[in-house]
Amino acid sequence: MGRGTSKTKKTGSAKARSDAPASRSRRLAWIVAACLIPVLLAGLSLYAKSLTMTAWDAVVKYQSPYCFELEPVAASGQPATGGVLLIIVDGLRLDASRTLDTWNAARNGGLGAPAADLVAVTGQPSLSDPAAAVIPSGASQEIHGVTTNWYEGLLKIDNLFTAAKRSGKTTAVVAGKGWVDLYGDSIGAMYKFDDTAGDYDDQVFQQAMAILAAGSEASTPLPDLLIVHFGGVDTASHEYGATSPENLAVARKLDGYIGQMLAAYDLGNRTAILTADHGHIATGGHGGWEAEVVNVPLVLVGKAVTSGQMPAAQQTDIAPTIAALLGMSQPSETIGAILDNVVSLPPEDLAKAFVDLGRVRFEFSQAYAGEVGKNLPSSQALTDIDQNIVDGNGLIDQAWVNLTAGDPGRGVEAAKGGLYLMDEARSKVDALRLAAERRSRLALALILALGPLLGLLYLGRNRWSAYALVAAVGYFAVHSVVFYLVHGFRLSLSIFNEESMVQSFFNSRMLEAAIVVLLTGLVLGLVIGWRKRYQGPELAEAAATLSYLVAYGLGLQIVLFYYLFGVNFGWYLPNLLWGFKFYADCLQMVPTGLAALAVVPIVLLGAKIAALLTGSRGVTPPVSAK
Ligand SMILES: [Zn+2]
Repeated sequence: MGRGTSKTKKTGSAKARSDAPASRSRRLAWIVAACLIPVLLAGLSLYAKSLTMTAWDAVVKYQSPYCFELEPVAASGQPATGGVLLIIVDGLRLDASRTLDTWNAARNGGLGAPAADLVAVTGQPSLSDPAAAVIPSGASQEIHGVTTNWYEGLLKIDNLFTAAKRSGKTTAVVAGKGWVDLYGDSIGAMYKFDDTAGDYDDQVFQQAMAILAAGSEASTPLPDLLIVHFGGVDTASHEYGATSPENLAVARKLDGYIGQMLAAYDLGNRTAILTADHGHIATGGHGGWEAEVVNVPLVLVGKAVTSGQMPAAQQTDIAPTIAALLGMSQPSETIGAILDNVVSLPPEDLAKAFVDLGRVRFEFSQAYAGEVGKNLPSSQALTDIDQNIVDGNGLIDQAWVNLTAGDPGRGVEAAKGGLYLMDEARSKVDALRLAAERRSRLALALILALGPLLGLLYLGRNRWSAYALVAAVGYFAVHSVVFYLVHGFRLSLSIFNEESMVQSFFNSRMLEAAIVVLLTGLVLGLVIGWRKRYQGPELAEAAATLSYLVAYGLGLQIVLFYYLFGVNFGWYLPNLLWGFKFYADCLQMVPTGLAALAVVPIVLLGAKIAALLTGSRGVTPPVSAK
């Protein structure tokens, strides 16, 4: 470069330099930038690909660190009902459930039994197997560790089936693979059907009716807890859409089945609970955070139910509420609540159930805070959190004192206070660790976010850099229009109607991003070519600047996610809306980085085309001083 500069100085005249043919060193610098940047970005794109896979695996192969082996707590109260029948209609939306006769009769007291009408909120990801783990365990996806429908093996935490066994209660499940395989032998009586078969629901219904009919014989008593799973609404929603007539027809058929089952279940002495594991978006997918997916119907009807409403129960509340109704041991890792405003237990039994729940919550919260806080430096905040958990347990002790002193009402209030303190302590320790991890990521995040500005300072000297900037903004605008408006996508797992769509979705998004960035480059070349006054190497550098800016725009968003959540989250699931955005950004980084190699020739081609169309030779002014 030094040699080039000196040569230019010797040969170039001041007059010629001012009117453009750039110095040889300048031209060389343009060419170097135009070659180096695409190679760099192509390398970066390969890294973005591995980053996407790491973050994807961190969710789909998530290994919960919270599967503790906790000492179970025996139940202290009596059952308030002769049994619980839990019916799960896979994928039934709240609004669809409000069009169904049996569901509405159950809600309105039309079945001659008290009824409570609720909405249960599911966790993330809102898929069937994760929910099949939530409902009997009362624990969230983050705790039980089932985050996909292809999870293999047994559920690793305590649940209603294991709790029933140690409480001497009987259980039975009539369901498909997803439900049954999670629990294995913990289920007392298992009736497993192929949920991919066309007549799955009919088989389930016949089996359930057979169990209910046999229940009238003393030799074959009904199980204390009977869980029945119907799958047709989910299948039809995926196939025809959630609001399709086909789907509503299936929902109505199942509603008829449920009506017959409830009629055969003595609601004067027993309790039925109807719910769904998740809803669907109109096009049929689920898994994400949409209101119609995460807000599912929950109806309690029969013995020990108080007619009432509670707009936002959690799906995790179902297990502790069932345990309280059946007077059985609470699942050890539930983070749910007993829905005491819709179940009516004798005051003493209710207080006892709350104390039982408080006892297991204490064990769990201690283990949880120990796990989350294990590598945190000791601090006042951490000490306070431990103290909150101890204080919470103190309130549980207080609840027992109130109870034995004949004031179960105050006992319940004290226990609720204790549960609140312990629940709050767990979110506090989460926040503490997240803040500490963010602090440790901040320096690198700032370097990654601000470092590329140096390159921009340099590239900004190019006469066409403002054009490249407009083109980069154009890339993001066009890409967003295509993603959100043309395809109607959202940043949500729900856009995958089937698992098999994931890979092709990734591939088509990458292809589209590449096409959009190449088109943007072509337009940039055409516009500059139209203006006529450009030089080849300078234009090549401007083309590389476009790729650089697109990569930087994506990189900033990726770095923000990195700062907020990291990439390989081992101890939590990030907000999946943010997580999905991260995937989408990385997915653009891969093709736009690779396409950077083609953007330079495309821009040059665009300029050439414009020059030909406008009758210009392109490079102006002509090379002088020769
Ligand atoms: Zn589904």
